[in-house]
Amino acid sequence: MITGHSREKDIFTNIIRNKSLLNSYIFCGKSGIGKKLFAEELARSALCLNGKAFEECECSSCTLARQANNPDIRIIDDETIKIDRVRDFASDAHISPYFGKYKFFIINNAHLMTRDAANSFLKTLEEPSPTTVFILVTHKEASLLPTIKSRCIEVKFGRLKSEELAHILTQKGYETATVNSISQMASGSVETAIYLMEQNTEPGETFRDMTFENVLTSVLRLKNRDEVKNYVFNLYINILESYKTTYDDTLLNFMNDLLLVIKRLEYNVNIEMAKMYLLTKAEEVLSEKR
Ligand SMILES: [Zn+2]
Repeated sequence: MITGHSREKDIFTNIIRNKSLLNSYIFCGKSGIGKKLFAEELARSALCLNGKAFEECECSSCTLARQANNPDIRIIDDETIKIDRVRDFASDAHISPYFGKYKFFIINNAHLMTRDAANSFLKTLEEPSPTTVFILVTHKEASLLPTIKSRCIEVKFGRLKSEELAHILTQKGYETATVNSISQMASGSVETAIYLMEQNTEPGETFRDMTFENVLTSVLRLKNRDEVKNYVFNLYINILESYKTTYDDTLLNFMNDLLLVIKRLEYNVNIEMAKMYLLTKAEEVLSEKR
């Protein structure tokens, strides 16, 4: 059902079996790796009438959960989480679960709580009901109030492996020819991979028309990390398109160089160094073309 995160699946399967779920968790880690989906699966698993954790199940509780209609699973997914919203689920949290053993509150992008909302939520955390489970999902845990963090168990999710990403993309119906290389580019994030896949539909400058001068002009204009990343992503996709018709090894090597630039940017290497490296490699491959 859920691809990847097998360590977390094992841990929570045990926790569910031993009935030792705690009141409040923070699910953190890079954006777009499936933290919210995992939280939803955890809630479904803990409420399953057949005790099937992270497995397919057709029981009435799981069916309702799959239709997003299980009243014991509430998901908050607002652009800003305001105090009224927090008050609303705080009062609901004191009512016993409708069907199951627990009542889940999944708060997606919990860092988007306003200051007032966060303070109000803190009060709810301080008086936990034994059947309530809060899961705060965030990729910016540093923005949460320290007093909230200290009351939650932090679960840090890792990036997805590129083969896991490829599996997810294939399931979503993306063209298999590009899935593998996009999966390597997306550094473990489904969100990034889908962004790249969608980019793929727009034709860019083909390798045949590309000149070092054009690349140089574009690269010198790039001002920040995101701009460099986007540029490299797009370049990669254009090169990939050409590779699919020529199977030229030079292009394959260049694509690997571009992957390296992305990895370095992910690890916070200085962006001027990354641009320099990119230009050196682009010059090599484009001068060879002439
Ligand atoms: Zn079930």
